[in-house]
Amino acid sequence: MVEALELDEVPEHLFVIGGGYIGLELSQAMRRFGSRVTIIDRNDRPMHREDDDVTEALQSIFQDDGIEFVLNATVKSISGTSGKSVKLVIRQRGVEKTLEGSHLLVAAGRSPNTNGIGLELAGVELTDGGYIKVNERLETTASGVWAIGEVAGSPQFTHVSADDFRVVYDSITGGKRVTTGRLVPFCLFTDPEFARVGLSEKEAKAQGIAYRLFKIPMEAVMRASTLSETQGFLKALVEADGDRVLGFAGFGVGAGEILSSAQIAMIAGLPYTILRDALLTHRPLWRALFRCSPRCRRYQNQPLRKASPLWQLSTSA
Ligand SMILES: Cc1cc2nc3c(=O)[nH]c(=O)nc-3n(C[C@H](O)[C@H](O)[C@H](O)COP(=O)(O)OP(=O)(O)OC[C@H]3O[C@@H](n4cnc5c(N)ncnc54)[C@H](O)[C@@H]3O)c2cc1C
Repeated sequence: MVEALELDEVPEHLFVIGGGYIGLELSQAMRRFGSRVTIIDRNDRPMHREDDDVTEALQSIFQDDGIEFVLNATVKSISGTSGKSVKLVIRQRGVEKTLEGSHLLVAAGRSPNTNGIGLELAGVELTDGGYIKVNERLETTASGVWAIGEVAGSPQFTHVSADDFRVVYDSITGGKRVTTGRLVPFCLFTDPEFARVGLSEKEAKAQGIAYRLFKIPMEAVMRASTLSETQGFLKALVEADGDRVLGFAGFGVGAGEILSSAQIAMIAGLPYTILRDALLTHRPLWRALFRCSPRCRRYQNQPLRKASPLWQLSTSA
């Protein structure tokens, strides 16, 4: 994966195995450099764990860019040399097909590099997946030995690995910081960005958590309009029987920045009404959060240029 960042040529036809964060970010970049790009994934959509409206919007924007998707496909064999020519045999819906291109990026996930380095000699045990076994203070099974970051099975983001350091530091210096209960945000750096923190609709439904959904298209965000970047939407999940924010997802320009305001409200346990009623400057992107609220009735059901509703509110089953 990292080698792709060091490439000094534009691939003629790049195959990307894996439609996750890294696969999507690098696919879009390479496509915009001029490469033909085909994303192959065994699921029926990219970023398949995300809500359907997110994955549909992502796929549609990528297809508009000219990126091809081969979905519901498993790779049976690979031959050739990336950089010269590669041949992939895939199986898609029971049919075997051969695809030929010039370069290959495997972005199908990372695995811990823990084999054969003598961890067992130090009494450091591994999980079944090969990650270092740790408790919520990141202590391993060997006294006085800690593990942090991806190798300890933490969510695979730089900010999580950095926070793991703070947990270990606290552990050593008598503090109480733990890894459990962390609110882990993330941002997919595509254009536009996708950022999420807390519960998605899929997760809320799977966990039987009732919620109210507040959702607006980016077209309703004034700053997005002035930037001529109106693709996407913002949505917030709010408690069904209270006003606390359960989750926030943004697919649009500056979504990663907007997310932080929602996350701070979540960390503080603030009701969404605080965001709604705050006197915010006119018109940074995060002012959009004000519009993610039912108080904004003047926007309700007004037709937009693309005839999408400017304001939607629904309640989960
Ligand atoms: C292409 C790409 C893009 C990414 N973009 C983002 C992003 O935008 N935002 C984000 O939050 N995260 C991103 N990530 C994920 C992020 O890079 C990782 O989650 C983060 O680096 C994990 O930190 P870490 O310290 O656990 O591991 P690493 O950063 O992987 O550090 C582990 C280090 O240990 C070394 N090492 C491994 N085995 C041994 C050994 N046996 N002996 C000695 N040294 C060893 C490695 O060489 C490496 O230097 C990206 C990852 C990739 C691959």
